[in-house]
Amino acid sequence: MKDARLVRKTESNSKSIVSLSKSVAIGGEEIVIIGGPCAVESLDQMETIARELKSAPIQALRGGVYKPRTSPYSFQGSGLIGLEILSTVRQHYDLPVVTEVMAISQIEEISHYADMLQVGSRNMQNFDLLKALGQADKPILLKRGLAATIEEFVMAAEYIMSHGNLNVVLCERGIRSFDSYTRNVLDLGAVAALKQITHLPVIVDPSHAAGRRELIADLSRAAIACGADGLIIECHPEPDQSISDAQQALTLENMIELVRSVQPVAKAVGRKVYESCLAIA
Ligand code: PEP
Ligand code: MN
Repeated sequence: MKDARLVRKTESNSKSIVSLSKSVAIGGEEIVIIGGPCAVESLDQMETIARELKSAPIQALRGGVYKPRTSPYSFQGSGLIGLEILSTVRQHYDLPVVTEVMAISQIEEISHYADMLQVGSRNMQNFDLLKALGQADKPILLKRGLAATIEEFVMAAEYIMSHGNLNVVLCERGIRSFDSYTRNVLDLGAVAALKQITHLPVIVDPSHAAGRRELIADLSRAAIACGADGLIIECHPEPDQSISDAQQALTLENMIELVRSVQPVAKAVGRKVYESCLAIA
């Protein structure tokens, strides 16, 4: 990995902090939890999530508006209407928003509405997209490819950074293996390794890793225990009605419980939890 010039940690304690807004940054002492549905479905859905979870607290909202679906006949996302919904809720609740960018042609439009651009697993090695995101003025959430090695993952981040954008957060979201009980296998070894090799913040997506809602809280606590800087988790006011990824969507009540249950683990590994969490605890 000697070519990972910009991503590699040069001193044992060097770390990057990536800001999403004036008050939310990933990679500092504070753990950041990003919550929201797989796909933006309606203003009402997003308003309900933001209203219920702002005090959980979560620090940012997620929601796909351009969706990479296995079948071309499945819902492909709400596009511009979804971006407008994200931007309304973002303003209303003062929560930064993260959404996926699938193509170079979407970068400008999405940058206008969102605080962080997500590169999905299926695009981790879309090198032209990575190069173009190197020139974007928004932080990038880079998800690990479905079967990408740690080196390939690190080099994908190097593509973005070497083209000018140093604000990259890595996301471990599970890799493919032989067992179909879970959707993927959450590679916490990669989280520990990435924290050692790179200076970038690393967050974990237990939702796409497990694919089953009953495993997500346990995996979230394990992720924080092994050094993750945050979590990105799918939830929905009516999980079974989700247009996509219904089996892994948490209820908003489960999401609140999860955020609270992560707190003692965060403290045990020397991390802070969001201030208003401490006030509630
Ligand atoms: C998502 O975050 O909704 C998503 C499609 O994730 P991934 O790219 O990790 O499959
Ligand atoms: Mn999803």
